[in-house]
Amino acid sequence: MLDKTPNKKLSDLLDQFGAALAAGDIDKAVDCFQDDCYWRDLVAFTWNIKTMEGRDQVRDMLASQLAKTKPSNWAIADGEDASENGGVLEGWIRFETAVARGFGHIRLKDGKIWTLLTTMVELKGHEEPAGFARPLGAKHGHGKNRPTWKEEREKEAAELGFKTQPHTLIIGGGQGGIALGARLRQLGVPTIIVEKNERAGDSWRKRYKSLCLHDPVWYDHLPYIDFPSNWPVFSPKDKIGDWLEMYTKVMELNYWSSTEARSASYDDTKKEWTVVVRRDGKDITLRPKQLVLATGMSSKANMPAFKGMDSFKGDQHHSSKHPGPDAYAGKKAVVIGSNNSAHDIAAALWEAGADVTMVQRSTTHISRSDTLMEIGLGSLYSEKAVQSGITTAKADLIFASLPYKILHEFQIPAYAEMKKRDAAFYKGLEKAGFMLDWGDDDSGLFMKYLRRGSGYYIDVGASELIIDGSIKLKGGVEVKEIREHSILFSDGSELPADLIVYATGYGSMNGWAADLISREVADTVGKCWGLGSNTTKDPGPWEGELRNMWKPTQQEALWFHGGNLHQSRHYSQFLSLQLKARHEGIPTPVYGLQQVHHKG
Ligand SMILES: Cc1cc2nc3c(=O)[nH]c(=O)nc-3n(C[C@H](O)[C@H](O)[C@H](O)COP(=O)(O)OP(=O)(O)OC[C@H]3O[C@@H](n4cnc5c(N)ncnc54)[C@H](O)[C@@H]3O)c2cc1C
Repeated sequence: MLDKTPNKKLSDLLDQFGAALAAGDIDKAVDCFQDDCYWRDLVAFTWNIKTMEGRDQVRDMLASQLAKTKPSNWAIADGEDASENGGVLEGWIRFETAVARGFGHIRLKDGKIWTLLTTMVELKGHEEPAGFARPLGAKHGHGKNRPTWKEEREKEAAELGFKTQPHTLIIGGGQGGIALGARLRQLGVPTIIVEKNERAGDSWRKRYKSLCLHDPVWYDHLPYIDFPSNWPVFSPKDKIGDWLEMYTKVMELNYWSSTEARSASYDDTKKEWTVVVRRDGKDITLRPKQLVLATGMSSKANMPAFKGMDSFKGDQHHSSKHPGPDAYAGKKAVVIGSNNSAHDIAAALWEAGADVTMVQRSTTHISRSDTLMEIGLGSLYSEKAVQSGITTAKADLIFASLPYKILHEFQIPAYAEMKKRDAAFYKGLEKAGFMLDWGDDDSGLFMKYLRRGSGYYIDVGASELIIDGSIKLKGGVEVKEIREHSILFSDGSELPADLIVYATGYGSMNGWAADLISREVADTVGKCWGLGSNTTKDPGPWEGELRNMWKPTQQEALWFHGGNLHQSRHYSQFLSLQLKARHEGIPTPVYGLQQVHHKG
């Protein structure tokens, strides 16, 4: 092997792997893997989002799926070269299945597969009309009373939901519902998105006034339309709102704003949902085959229930309802919580002249934005990455190729480096009494996001205000009682307050299923999000993938979609293909449907 080029080594392995799969020789195929191996499949083999860990799981999956999948044509992807570094050979690959074309990424150690990512790109015969196949738009030739594009769009909008039924109904028209709706539109799946707000983008517009995205622009693109190269690195919330509104229009989505989904039930015999939505004050019944809850992973507010809350004479609200600081100049503001929203809101209140105290109940991870951009995201999502040929699509796949089971191992050194680089900053925070953590295993922010969706702040300035005492800190205490004009704490101290902001986070998305469908269905599908890492707020057992997100659930025809802009963009591809296949009646034998270990 030593004198072979990386390309030759990889193509030899792919030939061997492909031949074993084609022959149905599972032992030989499994023999291509290291003992310590990971195969992450996004829909292509499993019709699921699933990581097989170790040879036994690979064998089990192949025993179930190989004959149904019929993979073939394994090769290094066109225009790509394998590379070898530090004993790991890696490359981009392509393959086909009986029904789809796939793309993937592979890493070899000692000539055997260490990590394999297989993703479904398109269903054969149902490709998106793009490139050479893009629609003509104009209708050349002539004919009497031919409808224009506008007339056809208006007719479709007038009929869908009334004369004809959507195949897929997406409840929630934030970035998640919008991105998925755009993909389904390109795939020709009749879809309606219902959104209770008046305008697309309002879920961002209605958030606190000072909010800008915490993630940089390269991480945030929507499918099909990238932000232009002069778009700001951290988009202000209202600008993102406007972009989403524009996107919804130009992508020709059937977007019902001012429409609230009120109830949903599934008919097992008809294989159909009955969903009642209230649009402009009128109830309309929709009968989709598939129902997607894109109601937001950060929008089901966790509102605490403290003794005496009813008696409080000032303003009090959850962070998601915080209007901004303007009315609170000269007032005493208390922010309960110490994660992103708490910091952003506290800083904005301080800027507006309020006297602000942050109540920190438990430790928080803090990454400084600049450092995080450089060390955490820079190699994949940055101008530098783009210049070196790492497109957003490639970055998404490289990221997806790192199995969750070992992702923390890649993160720990990065956060150790951050800790070293910003040592003085962290010392200052500790001196101010701020309780810091780096995640249970020092793997930092992103693992916390995946495991529990909370517990961190990306510092864009508020930490300095805590360090210099401008924002006061009350740490390590519990709220005992809310009084008419103050808060009483577990250590017996009392803090006067005109405003209390409960920055206490959000609940699991299956809570939306309880509200709209039933508690029983919410319990049947169980908790959404989290990996089962057995770390704080992410109870085991190990799941291997995020619970319930973008993949089949224990409730037939019910799906959850959401997450940050990166996840919305990336995973909407795989959810849209799963829905398209069902729309076309293509068999979708699901392997390894997730078991439910937690109700919510
Ligand atoms: C303060 C804050 C800062 C964040 N910063 C970032 C960031 O920098 N980068 C990033 O990528 N992510 C960020 N996120 C996380 C995430 O990207 C956002 O929460 C984002 O809005 C999620 O989009 P979504 O479409 O999944 O949900 P949402 O934007 O919450 O949209 C859900 C929609 O569902 C609608 N809805 C709910 N129930 C119904 C119903 N019954 N009928 C009709 N409509 C309904 C709601 O009105 C809402 O518009 C942040 C979140 C918060 C809270």
